[in-house]
Amino acid sequence: MNALHSLQTLAVSIRSVRKVYGDPHTGPVALKSIDLDIRDNEFFTLLGPSGCGKTTLLRMIAGFEFPTEGEILLYGENIADRPPFERPVNTVFQHYALFPHMTIAENLAFGLESHPMGKVLGKPQMAERVREMLALVQMERFANRKPAQLSGGQQQRVALARALAPHPKVLLLDEPLSALDLKLRQAMREELKTIQARTGITFIFVTHDQEEALTMSDRIAVLSEGEVQQVGRPEDIYERPRNRFVADFIGETNFIEGTVTRVENGLAWFAGPAGHPLPAQPCIDVKSGARVALSVRPERLHLVPATTESALPCRIEAQIYLGTDLQYQVSLSDGSRLTVRTPNCVDQSKRFAVGSQAGLLFDQGSASVLHD
Ligand code: ATP
Repeated sequence: MNALHSLQTLAVSIRSVRKVYGDPHTGPVALKSIDLDIRDNEFFTLLGPSGCGKTTLLRMIAGFEFPTEGEILLYGENIADRPPFERPVNTVFQHYALFPHMTIAENLAFGLESHPMGKVLGKPQMAERVREMLALVQMERFANRKPAQLSGGQQQRVALARALAPHPKVLLLDEPLSALDLKLRQAMREELKTIQARTGITFIFVTHDQEEALTMSDRIAVLSEGEVQQVGRPEDIYERPRNRFVADFIGETNFIEGTVTRVENGLAWFAGPAGHPLPAQPCIDVKSGARVALSVRPERLHLVPATTESALPCRIEAQIYLGTDLQYQVSLSDGSRLTVRTPNCVDQSKRFAVGSQAGLLFDQGSASVLHD
């Protein structure tokens, strides 16, 4: 791929962006130095805890805030001097902000009329676009209702249709599902993903909910304290967290200290708790003898009878019933504790009783080396 082509396929490029609110020397630093490339037609998620800078980044792409340093390119073009309404970008907010005195169809038409990309449409085209967008979010039959006559989930669909109507190149979504209840949120996740795939519009989605991020995104950027911690596909982020923050923020994990015993053909071998050998990891940037921090997900550990050869001996300290899974707390001979998660099974004799001895096996490739 030549350089020009790769530029064209990037929807948004964030280059060394720093954001300080107020005085650049003394004001609060919201973003330290962000570099991110978001591809055309991608469902990209900015994920992180409250205050990490997600909304600030989104608002800068939209043009409501400006970087203190660095630049933002939209399809290769620096958009610093373009006001929000001249950017091929639209935003869906957490609060739907629909006009209460207008019907759903009127809300959409008004959104189109007031957008530069909608203004160029004639009346019949506009009516057609409104119909098309309401069909996309399955709200056609509610076209003549007022917002107060809709549920929260239905209002959010209308807000989505309104934002999509001008056919923006990039849609920014700022925690759009957080006001909905759990069941509705789950249903809307699938729907958002389908709509993104169907329209081919680049979605940049902001959330602090890791499950939302894992289930919908093509790629995720994990942010903490104004810095990008890791960018990758959901599997990369979950299976190979780069550091302690990412491992802890996404799902549950066990932190284990290990010593690298050898590195061979791109595989690192470790001695884990109580010197127990752990399965090798694909890892080249560690040296023999080094002490490293490892992350092992609870479902990558397996409890077996205490007599099992090559299993790490442990004691069952607690068992928690989670419905689909059982979660165990186990202790090792060196006093350390680990969390183990197993699928719940009907056969109760396969459960491990609290206070009993058991053995622990690690899945092949289950541990990730954490780099800071
Ligand atoms: P949340 O999930 O709670 O919305 P966030 O990750 O979106 O958080 P931002 O709203 O981007 O975080 O805020 C990042 C940092 O910048 C925070 O420390 C916040 O207090 C600060 N901040 C945000 N807006 C302003 C502002 N207008 N003036 C001063 N500081 C601000």
